Amino acid sequence: MSKIDPIHIVGGGMAGCEAAWQAVQLGVPVVIHEMRPTVETFAHQTEGLAELVCSNSFRSDDDTSNAVGLLHWEMRQANGLIIGMGDKHSLPAGGALAVDRDAFSDDVTATLKAHPLVTIERGEVAGLPPEEWGRTIVATGPLTSPALAEAVLKVTGEDSLAFFDAIAPIVHADSIDMSKAWFQSRYDKGETEEERTAYLNCPMDEAQYEAFIDALLEAPKTEFKEWEADTPYFDACLPIEVMAERGRETPRWGPMKPVGLTNPHQPDIKAHAIVQLRRENALGTLYNIVGFQTKMKYGAQTDVFRSIPGLEGAEFARLGGIHRNTFLNSPRLLGPRMELRARPDLMFAGQVTGVEGYVESASMGLLAGRIAAYEALGRELPLPPQTTAIGALLNHITGGAEEETFQPMNVNFGLFPPLENVRGGRRGKKDRKIAYTERAKADWSAWLSDAMTA
Ligand SMILES: Cc1cc2nc3c(=O)[nH]c(=O)nc-3n(C[C@H](O)[C@H](O)[C@H](O)COP(=O)(O)OP(=O)(O)OC[C@H]3O[C@@H](n4cnc5c(N)ncnc54)[C@H](O)[C@@H]3O)c2cc1C
Repeated sequence: MSKIDPIHIVGGGMAGCEAAWQAVQLGVPVVIHEMRPTVETFAHQTEGLAELVCSNSFRSDDDTSNAVGLLHWEMRQANGLIIGMGDKHSLPAGGALAVDRDAFSDDVTATLKAHPLVTIERGEVAGLPPEEWGRTIVATGPLTSPALAEAVLKVTGEDSLAFFDAIAPIVHADSIDMSKAWFQSRYDKGETEEERTAYLNCPMDEAQYEAFIDALLEAPKTEFKEWEADTPYFDACLPIEVMAERGRETPRWGPMKPVGLTNPHQPDIKAHAIVQLRRENALGTLYNIVGFQTKMKYGAQTDVFRSIPGLEGAEFARLGGIHRNTFLNSPRLLGPRMELRARPDLMFAGQVTGVEGYVESASMGLLAGRIAAYEALGRELPLPPQTTAIGALLNHITGGAEEETFQPMNVNFGLFPPLENVRGGRRGKKDRKIAYTERAKADWSAWLSDAMTA
């Protein structure tokens, strides 16, 4: 049998370890390059692989009607290392999957170390991996070392990489009250009808605006961590509450400008302020609140944003935040198999591609490992359908999300193609989640068995 060249994997975190495991299960050798302990990050505490840097929770384990639980299920079906070790080292946590972080990381490290097809090399990859390595997966996470990040910037262009997440809250479109909100771009700008109606608008009268500003000012905020204190976000991307602190009228001159828009529900009344939401994905199932990045605590955000007319019943796919996170503008930079368009021998996986969270990152590593291993074996892995949790995340980062507003994303049902024939409204919500899950499970099982014969 001819010798199979190893896949190089940069980063031994959630995504890198899972990618390695998937490849070696298919008989393809890997070399994992992990910079710790030679080079540290501010968040990692150990030299273990797959270290959980903060919470020890993999979130909901409900695989009947929850998108994260469904992701767990898909990874279990695919013999995932990260989820398997999570199960083995789980701690009681109600409906969530919480893990004993040290035992988990020790076991992942020992399992990979003991595998005959795995080589672990400690040391920073301080630039783009060399072409001589052949197929390489870069899974260096939110704390990608500066030298590698610089090299990626050089090959992809200045605005291709973000170093901070300034996240505006994202709302499920079907939870917006369209008897109050309307579609219209400011001054009806745009060549096509689609462009002229690209935004959703929520109007406020003066009393509502004043109450909203009070709520923003009074809401509890999270403090910046020491290492975030000198963030360069401030001028480029002011949190909405900081804008309000600078002056009660400032948001009305900024993201809440009431000009160039006419409310078709009340055409004769001029709004005092208008909140705009912009489409977040090609499906049109998710909208972000433009300019509303925030450091308000999660509970407060829900209350404050639901006071906006039209958003009283808003369901949030993601709340706002600002924190350190290095990630690519993946919809622009990556091809459909997570390969860097500028250097197709390099694939990217994990949080650096703009998914968010331990499980999401591991799941992208799972897929990258399989894609790369199939390629090493001279086969082509079909991509999973968008109706599955892993397929939905892949689609989001490689083209489903809008490039201009691309923000890291947790898995959620808003990323899935909508279902037909399921009743709408609040009462249908539970049914829809169950239906999304059932469709995903059937499609994931079919994909897994097709992949075996590809
Ligand atoms: C402060 C902080 C708190 C977080 N809290 C949570 C949380 O509570 N829950 C949650 O789900 N997610 C959390 N996240 C996100 C979490 O880090 C990721 O979801 C997950 O760890 C990403 O997996 P990954 O494999 O992409 O990256 P990581 O797990 O970070 O792995 C990347 C690995 O690459 C290594 N590396 C980086 N650069 C190089 C290089 N040049 N050469 C070689 N090795 C390199 C790093 O040392 C690291 O081991 C947090 C992130 C941060 C920064």
